[in-house]
Amino acid sequence: MQAGSTGSKARLLRGQCMCGAVAFTVPDAFDYAMNCHCGKCRRTTGSAFKPMGGIARAELVVTSGADAVFYYGDATTHDAHCRRCGSLVYSQVRDAAYAHVPLGVLIDAPSLRPTHHIHVASKALWFEITDDLPQYQEFD
Ligand SMILES: [Zn+2]
Ligand SMILES: [Zn+2]
Repeated sequence: MQAGSTGSKARLLRGQCMCGAVAFTVPDAFDYAMNCHCGKCRRTTGSAFKPMGGIARAELVVTSGADAVFYYGDATTHDAHCRRCGSLVYSQVRDAAYAHVPLGVLIDAPSLRPTHHIHVASKALWFEITDDLPQYQEFD
């Protein structure tokens, strides 16, 4: 759980925005992964929910298109989008210590899959959770 960028030996997962202008890598070593049903995640992604993985912010490296990133939020906590196509690429959270990566932008499959659902109280009315993963009404 060290926030160092050099210690990880895990293979790298590649991710990119829809248009390909912004690309990044992150070790295949998410500390946690979940499906978030909150209204913010639903609207940011336009989806029923956002599957995402959390990892120390320093582990996520934008490998191309850093100048094409648009930040929604403040310097500490924000969503990073591609300025050109609008894709949510990652979120910087928890006092800038962690990145939340929407799993849908990954090219490679992460070893850790979402283990639970959060903010189920805010779930889209038209969507039914059909798996057996634990559900939490609000945050984990
Ligand atoms: Zn893009
Ligand atoms: Zn959310």
